[in-house]
Amino acid sequence: MKAEIISIGTELLLGEITDTNAPYLASQLPLLGIDLYWISQVGDNQARLVEVLKRAWQRSGLILTTGGLGPTEDDLTREAIAELLGEKLETEPVLEHEIRGFFAQRGIEMPLSTIKQAALIPSADPIHNIRGTAPGWWVERDGRILIAMPGPPEEMQHMWHEEILPRLRQCSTGGIIFSKTFKTFGLPEAAVGELVSPLLSSVNPTLAVYARTDGIHLRLTAKAGSQKQAEKMIAEGEVSIRAILGEYIWGTDDETLEAVIGRLLVEKGLSLAVMESCTGGLLATTITDVPGSSAYFKGGLVAYSNEAKIAYGVDAKIISEYGALSPEVAQAMAEAAKMFLGADVGVGITGIEETEAKSVGMVYIGMDDGKNRRVVKGNYPGSRPRVKRRATTAALFELRKTLTK
Ligand code: ATP
Ligand code: MG
Repeated sequence: MKAEIISIGTELLLGEITDTNAPYLASQLPLLGIDLYWISQVGDNQARLVEVLKRAWQRSGLILTTGGLGPTEDDLTREAIAELLGEKLETEPVLEHEIRGFFAQRGIEMPLSTIKQAALIPSADPIHNIRGTAPGWWVERDGRILIAMPGPPEEMQHMWHEEILPRLRQCSTGGIIFSKTFKTFGLPEAAVGELVSPLLSSVNPTLAVYARTDGIHLRLTAKAGSQKQAEKMIAEGEVSIRAILGEYIWGTDDETLEAVIGRLLVEKGLSLAVMESCTGGLLATTITDVPGSSAYFKGGLVAYSNEAKIAYGVDAKIISEYGALSPEVAQAMAEAAKMFLGADVGVGITGIEETEAKSVGMVYIGMDDGKNRRVVKGNYPGSRPRVKRRATTAALFELRKTLTK
């Protein structure tokens, strides 16, 4: 089945919001074996909306729209679909009752315009929306399916997951597309590309390389008649990928480095403390993004100045002898964090001292797990937020190495 996505909203065309609905839906369709051919964006204008819908109706078996289901005058998706199909909009009493109930339950007076959300055409079935008042529409006619969903991503995703996905599964033809993502850090994109180049020419499964903020990702995608067959193809591909990039792969699919670190620390029964200078607390923030991190994370010290480093236990002599941006200080920070907060493992990060002659983007990361001490040097050119992000990722990656040794 050929599918097409239409994101509706003038805000999208003005660049005020970024379309996240289309990418979300695009990532969902392969799981159903549905091929996506087109994504378009259109403003809140009935004539142009009808034009885009007409084109979609001619060329696609499945049309997914998001946005324009609200109560205001610029929410025109229902009107446009009615015009496309030449059908009449009529208020559906059960839907009207539900919408009135939604407001009554919250003790808010219902604005009259809300009633337009209870309108349907004969070819449309309402799709329940527990996160909002606007029901979606499931339209089936002339062998085509058109599904209209609300614009707010949370409402749309919930409706997709709970109501639409199960129903689409029943219509889908059986073939499936399954993929697995391998996440690497430490090698530039070109180097990863070169290393896996023999695999890049494979037609099924296919392999694609993407640069992301947490490193280079590789996505292996298999098309097969069944989930089991696709999984087998992916498992075989995985063996080849790991043989080439094993030491650089830190996780797969939805895994994050911080979650991987958390799991390792829990498994080993170890606690962690960090002292950071150039990352300004980002390492601690990232570590605490993981639910349950209080079980292993003792805390983070942001030691931006030399005084702060000394106050937290870094020897002043080391700073004066080697300079704040030095492997010796990174090592001393790791040790001091561990001591100061009574943790098993300490990490220290120091870098970008703009007043010094040393280059911006240079970072030293120190590790101390009581048995082994080491420092790694990184060089991450770019804006300050980018350097911070890269240094944080590098620190987590190195910590993973330390914990898996
Ligand atoms: P509402 O009842 O909130 O008006 P709606 O279905 O009419 O819902 P829109 O008015 O088109 O949807 O969009 C409402 C809000 O949802 C937008 O202001 C925006 O924050 C978010 N939104 C809409 N479309 C998208 C999209 N494609 N990607 C990301 N966010 C979106
Ligand atoms: Mg709206």
